[in-house]
Amino acid sequence: MFIAKDYELRLEAPACEPGAEYWNATAHFADDISEVFPYLNAQWTGAIYNPAVRQITTNIGGRAVALKPHEITLSNLPDRDTAVIEMEKIVAEVNRIWMDRENLTPLHTQRKRLVAMEIYTLLPQTNCKRCGQPTCFAFASKITVGEADIQACTPLFEEEQYAEKRQALLEMLAQASG
Ligand code: SF4
Repeated sequence: MFIAKDYELRLEAPACEPGAEYWNATAHFADDISEVFPYLNAQWTGAIYNPAVRQITTNIGGRAVALKPHEITLSNLPDRDTAVIEMEKIVAEVNRIWMDRENLTPLHTQRKRLVAMEIYTLLPQTNCKRCGQPTCFAFASKITVGEADIQACTPLFEEEQYAEKRQALLEMLAQASG
């Protein structure tokens, strides 16, 4: 499979928002592009991949991106010119990952989502602020969106009383990162 540069681009207002200022763009491909999805899933750590229906969605630059076997849809586009530019960027990125697939390990399963409350239950819950966050829950929330590093919770790594929680949390993060 190689995604051709030629595709049919359709621009439309979201059906649920008639008169909306922002637009959706859909590129239609004659070829089935779903073979690349497990590689995208491995590279796009925030993506949601559903292998049963061969769909993968993610958010790139504030825009929702959805890929199905014969189409890519982008949302939140202000005009046609932007749609063309942004679609070209996505197609180029998908092609780049496909061409590099021999160096990548595909991820064929849905990535486990990180949930702030599940992370919080494994933190020391002392709100000591040593991680730079005002509370342990705020730190947990930052972890879910990749804006904090678990290593910043120094009590978790320095104090033996948290050894079991630390191990469980590291396993949870490893599963989430695929
Ligand atoms: S350093 Fe750890 S224990 Fe302290 S507030 Fe941050 S997450 Fe909580």
